[in-house]
Amino acid sequence: MRSDLPTDAQGWRERAHAFAASAIAPLAERIDRDDRIPPELVRALADEGFLGLSTPTAWDGTGGDTRSTVAVLEELSRASASVGVLVGVHLSVCAAPIVTWGSDAQRERFLRPLARGEVLGAFALTEPGAGSDTARLTTRYSKDEGGFLLRGTKTFISNAVSAGIVLVFATSDPALGHKGISAFIVPPGTKGFSVAQRFEKLGLRGSETAEIVLDDVHLPRESLLGPEGVGLRVALGALQGGRVGIASCALGVAETAFAEMRRSVAAEDADWKRTLLARAFADLSAARVLVARAAEAKDAGAPYVIEASVAKLVASGAAVRIASAGVDVAGAAGVRAGSPAQRLLRDARVFPIVEGTTEIQELILARSLLPASTGRNPL
Ligand SMILES: Cc1cc2nc3c(=O)[nH]c(=O)nc-3n(C[C@H](O)[C@H](O)[C@H](O)COP(=O)(O)OP(=O)(O)OC[C@H]3O[C@@H](n4cnc5c(N)ncnc54)[C@H](O)[C@@H]3O)c2cc1C
Repeated sequence: MRSDLPTDAQGWRERAHAFAASAIAPLAERIDRDDRIPPELVRALADEGFLGLSTPTAWDGTGGDTRSTVAVLEELSRASASVGVLVGVHLSVCAAPIVTWGSDAQRERFLRPLARGEVLGAFALTEPGAGSDTARLTTRYSKDEGGFLLRGTKTFISNAVSAGIVLVFATSDPALGHKGISAFIVPPGTKGFSVAQRFEKLGLRGSETAEIVLDDVHLPRESLLGPEGVGLRVALGALQGGRVGIASCALGVAETAFAEMRRSVAAEDADWKRTLLARAFADLSAARVLVARAAEAKDAGAPYVIEASVAKLVASGAAVRIASAGVDVAGAAGVRAGSPAQRLLRDARVFPIVEGTTEIQELILARSLLPASTGRNPL
């Protein structure tokens, strides 16, 4: 186990490593096959304090910093990326925006149960016609007596089936662009809220991904998260943190794929396998450094948009390349149902898409690197 971290983060890493080895790894194949994370495992994650990790202790969290959080997500994902993603989504794009933007009353009501792991959190931005291009949101809200009325469809929402709290982004008028978008905290029991369908996926099976329908959902005024019209800022801030989390989940998959490959090459040495192993090690090393750098920048309170995008871009690509090389090294055994090599490759292949695709990371980086005044700013 790596030990290049400050003491707190190292403590969290060791705890997550031990938990993943005893409580997740024995279930990883079953989670993938059954497309389901057992509720007892989610309760155990809560008991360990992982579901409150990035939430301050004042709100019942365990108050870990970003370095601790990425260490935990990486370790959980080494055993099962689906479990890592469940925790990452809950922490980074549901609890964290409530820490940042919530009123004390909202933190009292929504953040405490999230931090204690009594409910799971979800983040609902994507729509059937609005994925990368968030300006195309069509889920509408209007003012209603004493609050708001929401109507629309959200798709590919992680944790959606089990979530007890969903952040929903909606526009008052699509013609207003980003200025029309606001964020709302929605408890799924609310009348008009339903999960329309759950999707089966190539990888990250077990991590729920579903479509949500909001059919004239009435929300009280206190459901608005942050001021009206700043919803896109809430979403983009959450996604920036989420990218560091997803990068660490991808790193976890890359670590396991590398470890499997190394075992296989050690058992049956061949020059071509050694070459693949060496390339994988270089890729893995780059991903490790970049994820650590992004977490450090976030903890330092410095702008970390570049670090987050580079970490997500490189770690998700590394996971795919290393897991794919792992299948090559394993040969036919690597594509057999139930083999770790094929599960790791299927899980890895989803990471370049979630929380901003690879092409969107490239656009963010190009925009950050080119001054707008050159006229070549791509966004
Ligand atoms: C497993 C999983 C979990 C998810 N969880 C959530 C969640 O919890 N909450 C949520 O809101 N969403 C979630 N999503 C949705 C995810 O964020 C979107 O899939 C992603 O943003 C891409 O949107 P899209 O699928 O509509 O693809 P599109 O935006 O249609 O993109 C299709 C392709 O075109 C490329 N592309 C798009 N625009 C450009 C451009 N301007 N320049 C160059 N290339 C471009 C993309 O990179 C991609 O390769 C999840 C998706 C998956 C697969």
